Amino acid sequence: MREIQMVDLRAQYENLKDEIDRAIQAVLQSTAFIKGPEVGMFEDELKEYSGARHVVSCANGTDALQIAMMSLGLNHGDEVITTNFTFVATIEVLALLGLKPVIVDPDPGTFNISPDSIRKAITPRTRAIIPVHLFGQCADMESILSIAAGHNLFVVEDAAQATGARFIFSNGNVKKAGTIGTIGTTSFFPSKNLGCYGDGGALFTDDDELAGKIRSIANHGMKIRYHYNYVGINSRLDTLQAAILRVKLRHLDSYNEARRHAADYYDKAFKECQDIMVPLRSSFSSHIFHQYTLKVKGGKRDELKRYLGERGIPSMIYYPGPLHMQNAYRYLGYGENDFPVTNSLCREVLSLPVHTEMDREQLEYITGCVLEFFNNN
Ligand SMILES: *Cc1c(COP(=O)(O)O)cnc(C)c1O
Repeated sequence: MREIQMVDLRAQYENLKDEIDRAIQAVLQSTAFIKGPEVGMFEDELKEYSGARHVVSCANGTDALQIAMMSLGLNHGDEVITTNFTFVATIEVLALLGLKPVIVDPDPGTFNISPDSIRKAITPRTRAIIPVHLFGQCADMESILSIAAGHNLFVVEDAAQATGARFIFSNGNVKKAGTIGTIGTTSFFPSKNLGCYGDGGALFTDDDELAGKIRSIANHGMKIRYHYNYVGINSRLDTLQAAILRVKLRHLDSYNEARRHAADYYDKAFKECQDIMVPLRSSFSSHIFHQYTLKVKGGKRDELKRYLGERGIPSMIYYPGPLHMQNAYRYLGYGENDFPVTNSLCREVLSLPVHTEMDREQLEYITGCVLEFFNNN
């Protein structure tokens, strides 16, 4: 059996080697390492794929969030509501920009930000909401858009874990993750569903004026060369990464499908097991399984993780500590027990390997070991 990894980037590369090597060679020959033609071509292809009116690439997913927040014209101390159960990037950029992160509990079933907790957190100073489409499934965007419309708020979607996921509105309309709110952001970190071989990110918007501002902010705030309209940053997707992403974008749908196959296999194998809850699948979103995340009942999560590790099966805890208890964010003044849902998820979640090259033998072995653990414990 091939060694099991959370994400097997080498096996994926081996299957794409000819296409990828050719794309990299072409950039090496051109030496247009910054702002080469592949960057614009990739933006156009991602625009086509996503259905967004504008796509602006940048250096990584965290920059994408920062640029999005910089483009909205918010004032110091304005409040932005986001989820407590996610990667730190969202609250980090708010803190850096002098905005006030207002964090709320997720829905315990989907792990995504809960519309009810958003409603409760709104104050006269609230200006925006940042839902994160966690683990590959869209947050409840229809409810979030309606809350935002009622309070005149911007919605910035963090779609770093959900590139290619589809949101289905109750009227049947379908939109891709990241193209639903005011602005969407994503990351091309290597392990993301659409990942490059280094760092990369992008923003999506349908708003022509915002798109121009976003493109300018990502390029030092420049409008025409050496004339600066905004305080900007330097955040570029480099040409090599764009060339790699052009190849991988063509495979994204089949990759997402492969992840879903692995998830279906897990779901079926774990159906009878009372000690674990398999990921809940929302009716309003496809799930592209950036992570396959179990909830382990009865305080056995850490023991299961150890058991699997001893048998050559990696697993990860996303996320082990709630954001409100991190030293850097103590200044926000939250108490340990302010977020019961986040606290209990941090004790229960365990993500199993899920990637584009998983084979039947690996899936059989992993599910066999998980079930064996619960039969013996
Ligand atoms: C990966 C990730 C980011 C940050 O992306 P980088 O490209 O690593 O900066 C932001 N938000 C979420 C939810 C992520 O998973």
